[in-house]
Amino acid sequence: MSRLTVGILGLQGDIEEHLSATDLALSRLGAEGEPLLVKGIDDAKRVNALIIPGGESTVMGSLSSIKGILPTLRERITNGLPTLGTCAGMITLAKRAYDRVVGETSQTLIGTMDITVERNSFGRQGESFEADLGLDVPGASKFHGVFIRAPSVKTIGQGVKELARLGDAVVAVQQGNMIGTAFHPELSGSTILHEYLIRLAKTDAVQA
Ligand code: GLN
Repeated sequence: MSRLTVGILGLQGDIEEHLSATDLALSRLGAEGEPLLVKGIDDAKRVNALIIPGGESTVMGSLSSIKGILPTLRERITNGLPTLGTCAGMITLAKRAYDRVVGETSQTLIGTMDITVERNSFGRQGESFEADLGLDVPGASKFHGVFIRAPSVKTIGQGVKELARLGDAVVAVQQGNMIGTAFHPELSGSTILHEYLIRLAKTDAVQA
């Protein structure tokens, strides 16, 4: 099988941590491939999977727009590119987002996932925390969630599956090949979610 290129949107956020987690996940799976920082349209066109990191969703949205990469990302994700959005990355994937304190935020979103996300749902930096979760992903049972100014998912459309909850809050979801997490898997020590993304990309490569 051909080599897999796992893109990491490289405009803003915790990019390095996802690079390391992706490297580790590829080697744990024995998969041929490498991570690629996605900074422009050409990069976005050639990846077999995409990770949108945590960081600041407003900045990530405007930089994607300024760099002209947004339409390509939308098109590729809509057409089934396996994509993992973590924290701000999940916000960026969402169709609708608002802030718990300030309400509606007019920010640029990729907007391909039929979810409404509440930003800073658990409070701001000071209220960051870690918690063990049940995660409905093959090979996972408990997952250590690192929540930093984390969002939660408030509404989900048809075809969106809940993957994890924290109390009443939905904190991980999947719609087709898109996965969103309110927490930071790249900081958890586990590469289960990165491996899941790579498996989705491998399945696609076999079918192509
Ligand atoms: N609160 C940030 C936002 O709205 C997300 C924080 C994070 O990615 N750790 O973009």
